[in-house]
Amino acid sequence: MVFLSEFKPGKVSLPLLFNWRVLQMIMWLIGFFILWCLFFYPSLGELLFWNILIPIAPILLVLLPGVWRNVCPLATTNLLPRHFNLSKRKKLTFKQIGILNLIGVVFLYLIIPLRHAIFNNCGVATGILILLMVAIGTFAGFFYEWKSVWCSGLCPVHPVEKLYGENVLFTVINAHCDSCINCVTPCPDSTPNIKSTSTTKTKSHKLAAILITGGLPGFIWGWFHVPDSPKIEYLSKILSVFTLPFSGLAFTLIIYYILETVINKINDRTGKHNLQKKLTSIFAATAVSCYYWYRIPSLFGYGIFKNDGLLINLQTRHLGMLLTTANLLTTFFFFYWFLFRKANKKSWTKRPAVSSKQINAYYK
Ligand code: SF4
Repeated sequence: MVFLSEFKPGKVSLPLLFNWRVLQMIMWLIGFFILWCLFFYPSLGELLFWNILIPIAPILLVLLPGVWRNVCPLATTNLLPRHFNLSKRKKLTFKQIGILNLIGVVFLYLIIPLRHAIFNNCGVATGILILLMVAIGTFAGFFYEWKSVWCSGLCPVHPVEKLYGENVLFTVINAHCDSCINCVTPCPDSTPNIKSTSTTKTKSHKLAAILITGGLPGFIWGWFHVPDSPKIEYLSKILSVFTLPFSGLAFTLIIYYILETVINKINDRTGKHNLQKKLTSIFAATAVSCYYWYRIPSLFGYGIFKNDGLLINLQTRHLGMLLTTANLLTTFFFFYWFLFRKANKKSWTKRPAVSSKQINAYYK
């Protein structure tokens, strides 16, 4: 398809960009339809959002995070003020972006367990959550440059993009930024083989990197061992959905921290940093494999809790062997992808040309 072709930075051909605009509009309409269903046909909305869109997201973030960043309906909405030149186009400091990244990780770890207590079985609550994110992102878009506040800052999906999207299939154009103003350093969209641990210069960056890299595998494991509880009435019961995910998070985080400390000592002696990169890749592969290990069976009624996360009920079809094979294949694939596939020095998207005129105007 034409819109997936690579081309030189700064030379965005109009037909190519037009194709992305069409795709953005289609995805925006799909997003709007899902949102509408969440409010008016909650069962359908929950199915479309939690059991179709979300299970596809991790593999897309592994293979082509740039595609998702280009067509995410939330990003398209939040960036409208910038596209229509209504933004004050302020620039955040490096430290502020680190703080936003850390808040994004905290958001992720707080929202996901609440799926069991609230969101998985309440389309309206999910719809309100999405609208809240639209409101924050769009409001920020009126003041700050391109993706700095939401897409590369506060968005709770962004830490996962950086963890999973370290060695993408190929680079696509950046269908949002028309020219680069260096609003984020390093720009996750434009930096080849970006990792969750690529930026650790401030305390917030470092803490965000450790929490997402070390904590996510255990958090995912714990999350899949908690059943959906549609009728939680007491706060104490709501809090109970956090226990297992946070215990898992703490467990793998401690392992990661110990290994990282040992590796840093070895690195100091040898001056090489390959081991640190491998450690990040191992944890990324473990996290995404763990997700699909539990998520694929649960889509077809073979999960730990049979009716949770169900897409289509195939319990009577005796698919046990087939699903075990699918689990083994996906795990094998992700470990190959993260550990054995050579780093290809590709970024999620091509960096648009940096406009010197724009930069001069910006710093006046
Ligand atoms: S490409 Fe440039 S302008 Fe766009 S998000 Fe990255 S740093 Fe910001």
